[in-house]
Parts: sequence; C-alpha cells; structure tokens
Amino acid sequence: MTDIQELLLSRIRDVADYPEQGVMFKDITPLLADPAAFTALTDTLADIAGATGATKVVGLEARGFILGAPVAVRAGLGFIPVRKAGKLPGATLRQAYDLEYGSAEIEVHAEDLTTADRILIVDDVLATGGTAEAAIQLIQRAGAEVAGVAVLMELGFLGGRDRLAQALDGAPLEALLQL
Ligand code: AMP
Repeated sequence: MTDIQELLLSRIRDVADYPEQGVMFKDITPLLADPAAFTALTDTLADIAGATGATKVVGLEARGFILGAPVAVRAGLGFIPVRKAGKLPGATLRQAYDLEYGSAEIEVHAEDLTTADRILIVDDVLATGGTAEAAIQLIQRAGAEVAGVAVLMELGFLGGRDRLAQALDGAPLEALLQL
C-alpha cells in the first residue's frame, strides 16, 4: 500500500450497523476534516481526471459533490451534479435504478451534457454499483461519453465492478482503496 493509500485509509471511520443493521458504513468525514488527506485525495483524483482525458466531472449526490467539485477545479474542468430526483429546477434527464428494497431515480440537467463531453464520474464509495450504473446510462443517453469512474473506495465483495463492466465498455474504473 502506498503512503497516500495508508493516509486515506487511516482517515475513514467504520460505523457498524448504520444506517441499518448489517451495513458497515464508511464515514469519510474524518478524511474531509484533515487537510493533508483531503488534498491528497483531491490531487490523486484530479490526476485520474487528467489521465482519462475527461472534459467534465460528474459528482453523485451527496458525497460525490464534496469530492467531485474540488477535483474538477484542480483539474481545470467543469462540474456537473447528478442529483436525486426532484432537486434540479431545469429540464432534466432522469434514470431509475433498483435498490435492495424498491427503486430510486437520479437526474441531471440535460443542457450540462453535450455530445463533445467526456465525463469522469466521481463518488466516495462503489458498493453494488447501482448508482454509478444509472449515472453512466444517464450520461450516455445525453450523447456524452463516459471517460471513467473514480471512487475513493470499492467494496469488492458487493460486485460493483462486474456490474459496471458492460456499461463502461472498456473505460476505466479507478478505486484508490479496495476494501
Ligand atoms: P451503490 O449504488 O450500491 O454502489 O451505492 C453507492 C452509493 O451509496 C454511494 O453514493 C455511497 O456514498 C453510498 N454507500 C453505499 N454503501 C456504503 C457504505 N458501506 N458506506 C458509505 N456509503 C455507502
């Protein structure tokens, strides 16, 4: 493990049985509160954004906003929020996806994405991959290209990488930590 990976891992707090029984919640607030760790994370993700040739960064509500926005600024790119349904005031594209119990919907402002864009999707955790998969579909439906997905950590046992493989169609999935 690199020094940066050790630093990042040391600032993630495991909270058992939150928000429900059986879930080990990965709390990144200690990392955000540590300027060295937050800067190292932002810089590493910005390097990935540069390497993928992304033209814009999409952040997934809500922690993807906290990570994605400084990454976009550091990489010199625009930032696009993908929000839970009903929060954006303009004309949107909407994508439904399945949760363990029930379903959810995410939205993006249609005018934010053009056919010339290559999008890096940023979030804190890749779990089942359902959220990221829906975001990929949203971006592709808008006619933009997905440059890749970058997350702080991947919960490998939940199989998100396999779930995304087809939608990513060869674009990279970068996880700074495999947990
Ligand atoms: P999924 O769609 O299953 O990949 O879930 C990803 C979304 O849920 C991300 O936006 C994460 O912020 C959040 N999430 C899922 N599992 C966890 C976890 N164990 N700890 C913290 N956040 C999680």
